[in-house]
Amino acid sequence: MDPVARLGLSFVITIILIALLLWLIREITRMWAQQASDEPAAGKLMSISVCPVCGGRLESHLMTRHLIVTHEMDVYEAAELVEAMRSESAQAEE
Ligand SMILES: [Zn+2]
Repeated sequence: MDPVARLGLSFVITIILIALLLWLIREITRMWAQQASDEPAAGKLMSISVCPVCGGRLESHLMTRHLIVTHEMDVYEAAELVEAMRSESAQAEE
């Protein structure tokens, strides 16, 4: 085989290997990112709050928005209420 052609071939193989490696790294980081986004979702299930106004159950981090949007509550009022609920549930855990 012509040494120039062999060099070219090994160059092409190297490029393919690098591309494959980059693809693999991208796939792995994508999987990690998915896992990372799954884990907090599982954690959120542990912190379900009951809305003091309508009695609906929803995730704690959505409660403030729910109070403001659904019950047209004042932003500060809603934040205070959620904060009070949080400290209540923290006391219950102790
Ligand atoms: Zn509600």
